[in-house]
Amino acid sequence: MNGTAPVGILGGTFDPMHAGHLALAQEALRQLHLSCVLLIPAGGPWQRTPQAPPLDRLEMVRRAVGQMPGLQVDDREVRRKGPTYTIDTLRELRAEWGNDRPLWLILGADAFLRLPTWHRWQELLDLVHLAVFCRPGSSLSADSMPLALRREFERRCCDPGQAQGSGGAIAICRMPLLEISATQIRNALRAGQFPADLLPPAVLDYIETHQLYR
Ligand code: ATP
Repeated sequence: MNGTAPVGILGGTFDPMHAGHLALAQEALRQLHLSCVLLIPAGGPWQRTPQAPPLDRLEMVRRAVGQMPGLQVDDREVRRKGPTYTIDTLRELRAEWGNDRPLWLILGADAFLRLPTWHRWQELLDLVHLAVFCRPGSSLSADSMPLALRREFERRCCDPGQAQGSGGAIAICRMPLLEISATQIRNALRAGQFPADLLPPAVLDYIETHQLYR
């Protein structure tokens, strides 16, 4: 791997991992010219209670990713005890990859708008660049942001290709619309449906075998 090639970080509950998450990782890989995207399932997300246990969510991410080039699964948040805070993960990754390596935290626009509710959120803005992916039809105007986030956005926003250094920028990226959410999938499974078009087949098999989301 090239010594300064940027690395992407996609965290999430992945309850379960679905086609929208995969599309997001692949768009980021392509648009930001990343050497790889690390998919990091949250062990104990402190703001919500996932339905499937951490080890099952990790295994579903592994199966969804399979051998896809450029995508790697990182299990550190599932192994870590206690509540999962993204800032702890980013500090570890920064120490491992060194100060010169551009690190991009990949977020959907919905996750970005909730950023000020995250533990020590302002610290993470200097550690990594943020790539905020909007779907067609969803505009991310400064007006829709909480005031503290808007101030940071106005100070840091730039085109993805113009981010300087290894962290500190916020770039807005576009991706095709994939109207899929994990909530929708859990509801479909609970209703006895098989949403085969929304999930990789290996994930649906795992859910069936382990009787998850029933
Ligand atoms: P839920 O419905 O349970 O809230 P979710 O898929 O929105 O699930 P996460 O698993 O935490 O929640 O999502 C991880 C990341 O993937 C977030 O940054 C989220 O914005 C993004 N994301 C989720 N669904 C899509 C999608 N269909 N297209 C693009 N990005 C998505």
